[in-house]
Amino acid sequence: MKAKAKSPEPKARAGGAIPRQGTGGLASVAAREHVSPALLEKHLASGKVVVLCSKRRSIMPLAVGKDMTVKVNANIGTSPDTSDLANELAKLRVAVAVGADTVMDLSVGGDVDEVRAAVIAESPVPIGTVPVYQTALDARRKGKSFVDTSAREMLTGVEKHLSDGVDFITVHCGITRQNVEILARAGRVCGVVSRGGSMTIEWMRRNRKENPLYEYYDDVLAMAREYGAAVSLGDGLRPGAIADATDAAQVAELLTIGELVQRARAAGVQAMVEGPGHVPLDQIEANVKLEKSACDGAPFYLLGPLVTDVGCGYDHITGAIGGALAAWHGADFLCYVTPSEHLGLPTIEDVRQGVVASRIAAHAADVARHHPGAIDWDLRVSRARAALDWKAMIAGCVDPQRAETIFSAARSRTEGACTMCGEFCAIRRMTADGEEPKRGRRPGGGKGTGRKGHK
Ligand code: SF4
Repeated sequence: MKAKAKSPEPKARAGGAIPRQGTGGLASVAAREHVSPALLEKHLASGKVVVLCSKRRSIMPLAVGKDMTVKVNANIGTSPDTSDLANELAKLRVAVAVGADTVMDLSVGGDVDEVRAAVIAESPVPIGTVPVYQTALDARRKGKSFVDTSAREMLTGVEKHLSDGVDFITVHCGITRQNVEILARAGRVCGVVSRGGSMTIEWMRRNRKENPLYEYYDDVLAMAREYGAAVSLGDGLRPGAIADATDAAQVAELLTIGELVQRARAAGVQAMVEGPGHVPLDQIEANVKLEKSACDGAPFYLLGPLVTDVGCGYDHITGAIGGALAAWHGADFLCYVTPSEHLGLPTIEDVRQGVVASRIAAHAADVARHHPGAIDWDLRVSRARAALDWKAMIAGCVDPQRAETIFSAARSRTEGACTMCGEFCAIRRMTADGEEPKRGRRPGGGKGTGRKGHK
């Protein structure tokens, strides 16, 4: 009798990119996600999970995608009006401190090369960038307009960021001439709101040529593979108004991106897909399912989404509502939105509030997905609350600094209680009556494994 053939190793449908760079190895990455190394490798091989870590970095790779915890990104970076390296580094620190899993440096003002180098050097988390900004800024330094740059100069911008060590790059390769024609017929309220998308479309219209990052996509992939970076396929045609959500232009670009995901996998490059933008609550589930179907389960990285257009000043809340629902329906990665969205460059405090809002949204989805680490985090805080153990409860919260500030601002005259109820504290009253607070019940019946929150 012939020996039974050994099961083949999980293989990617198209190439399979299982990066080995970074510190700790895949076993550590899997342990942090509370999944088995075998499951992580299987999802990596199929492209349903990516791990972010350039070959030039010495950080622990970050897993994003199917069966992983929902991740949060914070955008920082200078603008032509406000450029201060120390300020951007302070934003980086506060973003990481309150739970950002990645940071994107979107600098477009001042010495962007200096800012990017400093951010990469200091960041313990993966860094992403949008290299087309580099091309525009380099063109300006040469005294010319972005629309006069060559395809070669755009690819040079990509290589510059990759060689500097960024872990993922947003490239708007899904904007094709055909998709721009569909956009022209879409009759949008808010047109194009993607900075990189608008630059690319302007270049295409002025030069009457195909998008260079689409035309030379194979060159982009070759560079990403060389440096071990992931491509994040940007949604340059994302809707910027509720009225424009899920229109033909957005869907056409997504279908093109689906093809680009397959080409990335075939080239051995990890690919994520970026998503909108402005999406009403009733369209969020459809958007996530469409991406998962059209892009063969590639990790979905959403900006927000914002569920209404009227939240200016509070768009971290608008985005967190959309982010929680999107993540519940299968989105993998939430790009934060700050209170300054649509109004100005975020301050350090805006960054803190934006990350906290998205972190809560991501964690709420992790709890609903019965992710063991997430459930255990909630249980730990619940137990501390039931025991009126203020120190442990505050330490376990998503933003201990803010919780401590509120709690310390006014102390109750009643021992153990807070100023909300004072002597009528329900928890204290029941404990004093000898009724033990209920302990140990886990939402959904999951088995906690002792995750220590995001810190
Ligand atoms: S005083 Fe009221 S709000 Fe404060 S811990 Fe007791 S029951 Fe909760």
